[in-house]
Amino acid sequence: MSKIAFSDLSTAAYCPRKLYYRRRDGDFEVPEEVAERRELAFRYEELLATPRDALADLPLAVGPAEFRANLDRARSRFADEWDAIRDPSERERLTEGKDCRGIVHKVLDLGVPTPAMVFTGDPPEEGVWESQSVRAVAAAKALSWEFETPVERAFVEYPTHGEIRELRLHARRKASYRTAMEAVRALDGPPPRLTNDAKCKPCEYRTECGVKTRSLKSLLGF
Ligand code: SF4
Repeated sequence: MSKIAFSDLSTAAYCPRKLYYRRRDGDFEVPEEVAERRELAFRYEELLATPRDALADLPLAVGPAEFRANLDRARSRFADEWDAIRDPSERERLTEGKDCRGIVHKVLDLGVPTPAMVFTGDPPEEGVWESQSVRAVAAAKALSWEFETPVERAFVEYPTHGEIRELRLHARRKASYRTAMEAVRALDGPPPRLTNDAKCKPCEYRTECGVKTRSLKSLLGF
């Protein structure tokens, strides 16, 4: 059985139908602005020392003061892990697990190889989005397989906010990973649409998919 890409797992966790469209359209290139934002995650030490005026020139999603405060808080909260977070032992490591494969953005040497995955969008109020959690679990499982050691936590970074979140691979997260794996394996034709306004609204396939977001429904008087 072929190994499933991390990106397919996270897309399936978001919406299996979206994965159907993505696969039909083939690979897409990471836009330049995404690469630029992702790069911020490898410059934390420099960014903590950068004058606030200069931070304003960077592709941040929040103001310089908020960014600095978030990053300072992350450094304090993860004091034991900070050296590994700011200077990972490997970056962009192609990792092959038993069932999945993909790029681990940072490999942190924390006694066991621990993944840190970098996302350029906005974080939720707390924790991480489910599709990103699935991707982080996939990265942890793949590293665990390659290094033949249990990996029970991962980090998720939102560098345009200076936010870093830790996640433990507890049973619920592993169950979400398995559900996404099953959804990818079962993909055969377009799955049903979601009824989740919040997920469909920002989806690039919304028009083609034919879902009506709440604003459109209300415009039409539904
Ligand atoms: S619009 Fe909604 S249902 Fe359609 S592919 Fe996107 S997220 Fe899935």
